[in-house]
Amino acid sequence: CPWIERDIGIEFDKWDCPILDEDTLQSTNPEIFFGGDSALGPENIIWASAHAHKAAISMHLFCQGKNVKEERPPEGVNLLSQKMGIHEWSYDAEHDPSVRHIVPHADKEVSLKNIKVEVELGFDEKLGFDEAQRCLNCDVQTVFTDRLCIECDACVDICPMDCISFTDNAEESSMRPVLMAPATNLEQDLYVSGHLETGRVMVKDEDVCLHCGLCAERCPTNAWDMQKSVIHIPQMGSYAE
Ligand code: SF4
Ligand code: SF4
Repeated sequence: CPWIERDIGIEFDKWDCPILDEDTLQSTNPEIFFGGDSALGPENIIWASAHAHKAAISMHLFCQGKNVKEERPPEGVNLLSQKMGIHEWSYDAEHDPSVRHIVPHADKEVSLKNIKVEVELGFDEKLGFDEAQRCLNCDVQTVFTDRLCIECDACVDICPMDCISFTDNAEESSMRPVLMAPATNLEQDLYVSGHLETGRVMVKDEDVCLHCGLCAERCPTNAWDMQKSVIHIPQMGSYAE
């Protein structure tokens, strides 16, 4: 960052970038904040925009004489139920298992002769909708409430992917092979409940879940719910008085 003045109390790292606190983007001169490429090196425009929001919050706190690190509004994740009726969800719970649609290309005869021809044509409206039906709704989570479960096993019966099991608690390595469908992807954690009335636990293999919501529709006690995760990243306008 050779364009930044060297005599205004800012220290620089070995890459010649200003030394910053990554949470606040405040430099070693507490009155100066950075964002974008000059902050933490080259990134894309999405990060530059995020830096601007972060630095704006820091400046707002600084101008109010508050601690820019300790008094920041918190980031977080909320889980909100998507239930609208017994068989009705606020998201499209149907999953189309067809394979990914191929993006149509321009005729090779034309595109190979002219470098200015756009090769990928993109989806038309119908293909776009068909592709969207393949969405697994990964932002909608299955959430289990131990104390509501009466262990009727109805969710086990209806799950099209056999992801739910009720079993004795055990070490993960001995539990994985004996689930309704063996959980072989060791990189994916298992979802394990607390102990239920009979002493068993509910174990769910998240790796194969379609987020179809059938377990939550079938459950007579609402022990299963489908909840959307909403990430909250504070921005100036959303909290400043
Ligand atoms: S959401 Fe569907 S696939 Fe996932 S556990 Fe429930 S029933 Fe099974
Ligand atoms: S359907 Fe509901 S109550 Fe029955 S076992 Fe599943 S989670 Fe428990």
